[in-house]
Amino acid sequence: MEPVNTLRIAIQKSGRLTEKTITLLENIGLKFDGYKNRLLIKALNYDVELLLIRDDDIPEYVQDGICDLGVVGANVTLETEADISVLKDLDFGHCRLSFAAPKSSGIITAKNLAGKRIATSYPNLARKYFESKGADAKIIKISGAVEITPRLDVADAICDLVSTGGTLKTNGLVELETILESQCQLIKTNRAIQPHKSELIDKFLVRIEGQLQAENSRYIMMNAPREALDEITRIIPSLNSPTVLPLADESMIAIHTVIPTTKFWEVMEDLKSAGATGIVMLPIQNMIN
Ligand code: ATP
Ligand code: ZN
Repeated sequence: MEPVNTLRIAIQKSGRLTEKTITLLENIGLKFDGYKNRLLIKALNYDVELLLIRDDDIPEYVQDGICDLGVVGANVTLETEADISVLKDLDFGHCRLSFAAPKSSGIITAKNLAGKRIATSYPNLARKYFESKGADAKIIKISGAVEITPRLDVADAICDLVSTGGTLKTNGLVELETILESQCQLIKTNRAIQPHKSELIDKFLVRIEGQLQAENSRYIMMNAPREALDEITRIIPSLNSPTVLPLADESMIAIHTVIPTTKFWEVMEDLKSAGATGIVMLPIQNMIN
């Protein structure tokens, strides 16, 4: 019989994704005893360990089955063209891969990039873009500080990750076309894995889904005249039918429900017009449907 082994998850050792990844794992119930300056960390309460490596190496470690799961940006997975499965978008680490060129260059659309020198850490994704457009460009692979290459006359334009656009602006660059919208994802090996690991992964996935749903939802409570109930029920795009509670004043009721956070601000004014008072919104720790 095969030896039973530990579920291994590859995460970024130190960078933009590290803290959010650890927080997510803790939020789904895993406990760790300090993760700074260590390469392999065992969870205290599950047969799970974390391998902390550079994000660029994560897709291949998962592809090769050295790790069963990985937490990494879609930008990295797509660039490495690793053979893995994406289990879940994790809704953090949002960024986009865009072309940018110096303001003064006269390059104003991605079409003008044909024949130019493009510096990027994402040569495969950039090359594919040009192939799909039937255009050609000289792609120069640079591993860091891509944004200064036009000033050094190493490149005419760049293809780089952008989140706010602040770095581009500082370097006198204008964002052109976006070729990829990215976020952090949970990825899984396509190699065969032992049943006890699959069961653990399924369990964690349910918890992650609950966690993501909870983060995007709010518990709201309000008081309202009893006759306003129908209108308020119409206004609230509730996940379930609302909880309605009697109040000491028999003409009034309390209404409790869960709504998507983004909807809250949209419906708040309507709720007030319908007669709701004392509207309270609370964060939700987790939600299991
Ligand atoms: P490593 O040492 O692990 O290779 P790195 O320098 O490649 O680190 P970070 O800068 O920490 O990586 O970024 C990790 C990931 O964070 C990116 O691959 C991307 O998915 C995401 N990200 C989100 N916003 C940005 C941004 N503005 N710039 C770069 N990456 C971003
Ligand atoms: Zn990296």
